[in-house]
Amino acid sequence: MRHIPYARQHISQDDIQAVMDTLQSDWLTQGPAVERFEQAVARYCGARYAVAVNSATSALHVACLAAGLGEGDLLWTSPNTFVASANCALYTGAAVDFVDIDTQTYNMSVSELSDKLNYARRTGEFPKVIIPVHFAGQSCDMKGIHALSRQYGFTVIEDASHAIGGNYLGSKIGSCRFSDMTVLSFHPVKIITSGEGGMVLTNRQDLYEKLMLFRSHGITRGQELLEGQSHGPWYYEQISLGFNYRITDIQAALGENQLKRIDEFVARRRQLAKQYSLGLQDLPIILPWQHPDVYSSWHLYVIMLDQEKCKKHRRQVFEELRQAGIGVNVHYIPVHTQPYYQKLGFKHGDFPAAEHYYQGVVSIPMYYSFTDEEQDYVIAKIREVIQ
Ligand SMILES: *Cc1c(COP(=O)(O)O)cnc(C)c1O
Repeated sequence: MRHIPYARQHISQDDIQAVMDTLQSDWLTQGPAVERFEQAVARYCGARYAVAVNSATSALHVACLAAGLGEGDLLWTSPNTFVASANCALYTGAAVDFVDIDTQTYNMSVSELSDKLNYARRTGEFPKVIIPVHFAGQSCDMKGIHALSRQYGFTVIEDASHAIGGNYLGSKIGSCRFSDMTVLSFHPVKIITSGEGGMVLTNRQDLYEKLMLFRSHGITRGQELLEGQSHGPWYYEQISLGFNYRITDIQAALGENQLKRIDEFVARRRQLAKQYSLGLQDLPIILPWQHPDVYSSWHLYVIMLDQEKCKKHRRQVFEELRQAGIGVNVHYIPVHTQPYYQKLGFKHGDFPAAEHYYQGVVSIPMYYSFTDEEQDYVIAKIREVIQ
């Protein structure tokens, strides 16, 4: 029986050696490998500063704190995302709201955002932070979001957990050309991995300094940040309330080595996406649409059943593909429909585009080591199940 997952990491002999070398070095926790990893990712993405942490969830949390988010504030994000993109606001004591998605890209709709901001003029409930999520690896309309951020004065944190290796209007995802900060994930299902890990990129020194503090207990040794007189070379001060969100050198060594192959990883994903679009084109399903401004890294390949033409429902298609050994998945259950968010007052029907999208979608296998032969099998099975 075949067993094809929807996503998986690819670890080379060279990756293993990089981890082994670190295990035999003087540093296990945050040390020289973390700094090298940060510099390599910042250089690759074209951002000035990078702060590595132990997950994208932690990265989102420290990014919100660096943006000054807290009690009495409001954050808006997409309902079509992993819960972490919204939870980060709640960690700081702020409230969350959502902006419905565009029906073609499944990303936050900029016209919805514009309308919602306009409406907020009446209620006064403006967001302090907006988190656009580059769903499946395709960038949001960052030019539109950036223009609105200038008009309304909110901070933009890109959740690029799906999107490292892609670009938008000729700039690498992570360059922060249209945002204040960008968050990356190095979870094993993502484009490159460090086991667990995340990073915040920024071009602003003030944010960089805050991110460094929140990563490690709010403690600093930086002369210019000290509030009192140094007692001597051992001296440090805790000047804010931070966390232990440090990533280990072991993880960073893996991430740094994986980054060397990122363009190869993304090229293969793009080739697989092209092959899917050819192999699945004449079925009663809607294939992922790509905006011409975007070069996607294809973290996910999502098909949507055309519910008027397709005889079977999503549930049945999903189960038949699982029975054929294909590890299909669904991304995402709209965050506002989660029981925790329902208790906060959100209701079914609040974000109809995201809810409609969720009813019809299936994520099919997409990862670097997925072979052409395996893909042919998946395409044949989908054709068999759907036709
Ligand atoms: C994976 C993911 C996260 C969380 O990443 P971790 O590194 O697992 O904490 C956040 N947002 C999105 C959109 C993700 O896909």
